[in-house]
Amino acid sequence: MSVRHGRPVLSIPGPTTVPDEVLNAMHRPAVDIYSGPLLEVTDSCLADLRTVFATEGRTYIYAANGHGAWEAALTNVLSRGNKVLGLESGRFALGWADMAAVLGVETEMLPGDWSRAVDPAALETRLRNDTDGTISAVLVVQVDTASGVRNDITAVRKAIDAAGHDALLMVDVIASLGTMPFEMDAWGVDVAVAGSQKGLMMPPGLSFNAAGPKAVARHASADLRTAYWDWTTREGEQHYMKYCGTPPEHQLFGLRQAIDMLFAEGLENVFERHRLLAEAVRRAVAVWAEGNAISFNISEPSQRSDSVTTIRVDGGHDVASLIRYCDEKCGVTIGVGIGGIEDTAFRIAHMGHVNAPMVLGTLGVVETGLGALGIPHGRGGVQAAIDWLASEVKA
Ligand SMILES: *Cc1c(COP(=O)(O)O)cnc(C)c1O
Repeated sequence: MSVRHGRPVLSIPGPTTVPDEVLNAMHRPAVDIYSGPLLEVTDSCLADLRTVFATEGRTYIYAANGHGAWEAALTNVLSRGNKVLGLESGRFALGWADMAAVLGVETEMLPGDWSRAVDPAALETRLRNDTDGTISAVLVVQVDTASGVRNDITAVRKAIDAAGHDALLMVDVIASLGTMPFEMDAWGVDVAVAGSQKGLMMPPGLSFNAAGPKAVARHASADLRTAYWDWTTREGEQHYMKYCGTPPEHQLFGLRQAIDMLFAEGLENVFERHRLLAEAVRRAVAVWAEGNAISFNISEPSQRSDSVTTIRVDGGHDVASLIRYCDEKCGVTIGVGIGGIEDTAFRIAHMGHVNAPMVLGTLGVVETGLGALGIPHGRGGVQAAIDWLASEVKA
């Protein structure tokens, strides 16, 4: 017996739900790549991405996933023999630094912990000890999708400045752009990396770099540059060169629509919607935690992201069964734990094209699963989420 037949709900931290309007915008014949509507779409998307990143700097669109944009960012500003410092706070800064190592860059991780944000004081100390300036760049993730942490990028910037260090600040905003405030220029970020399939409500397959003036200066002498990712080549006049080959046409029509939807809602309202829905999830988890089997992965409340919540299940209760129950019995796909916490965690995403019924539905199904599987939990998590929304979303 199941109650899954109906519209499926996808509650994983990427790819996220693609709006029908975006799917419809992509459902069209292919067009010419040298003239016609695609040229305008490219120019307007590149310009509007600057608004989304909050930068006056340059933006680049790649036909690639987030890993591609990671590689693009690294190869455009680094040289062989450079060293980067990755700030550990989950899985993704590690992955990015690993990629740098493969490229022939020396890498060092500032050790961190999966249950908390990066420590700016430890960063400042490490950079002060780098007296001969061997560290070329600091790599940090704004929201780590594995741990669910939000890092304070302004505090990271302050730590670099306090140490008087010249390293570039490179930030992965793949899971935070379009879900939480990010102010590239105001926060002193030199390079930002994003992907299409999370807050930007698109299918996977497009990713982005944004580069400030200091990054562009480093780029001039970077010797890891390759023909495909190269920012300068992509500045070329020919529309074709903006993508180093055939533009990902349908994805671009989709992106145009997705950005239009973000602007129509207003970025401030987009962020506030995410905050309200994320807090609804947190209210529910806090009640479930009263059963002493469930807990937040991120211990400090202010460090929990508005994109995804990572939830620990202790005491040997079977997380895989819970995830399977939600999917097979109720039609909700929730996220598995990743990066070593597969057996003890699950994730509820609340990013992108998401609204109250989607979040309340997901919470209701998780609470149903906890009950059906006999996993100890405080009762009334969904009610707490409802109470939160009822008090904050005024009539
Ligand atoms: C999803 C994600 C990535 C990887 O993106 P892909 O498109 O899977 O390559 C990198 N960093 C963060 C923070 C992410 O959430």
